Amino acid sequence: MAKSDQATCEVKVEGAWQPVTAAEAYAQHRSAQKRCPECHGQVMTVSTYSHTIRIRLSHRKGHDGCSLQPDRFKGVRSPHPQALA
Ligand SMILES: [Zn+2]
Repeated sequence: MAKSDQATCEVKVEGAWQPVTAAEAYAQHRSAQKRCPECHGQVMTVSTYSHTIRIRLSHRKGHDGCSLQPDRFKGVRSPHPQALA
């Protein structure tokens, strides 16, 4: 079972989207554009400190058609209205 800090996003590197883990995006691609691999909406990395630093992904604009946002997902996947191309 995947841990939440193994979440992946896509970062734009030299004009091409590449999948990376949230931790890699945070450490190595902080200024690059990032998008959700499912709905292609823009995401940002958010670090939380408890016992260890955890990096998670947060949609910049919420979207209820993305299963990677379980607190908002309404059960039907749809592209983000402001998807990054
Ligand atoms: Zn999404």
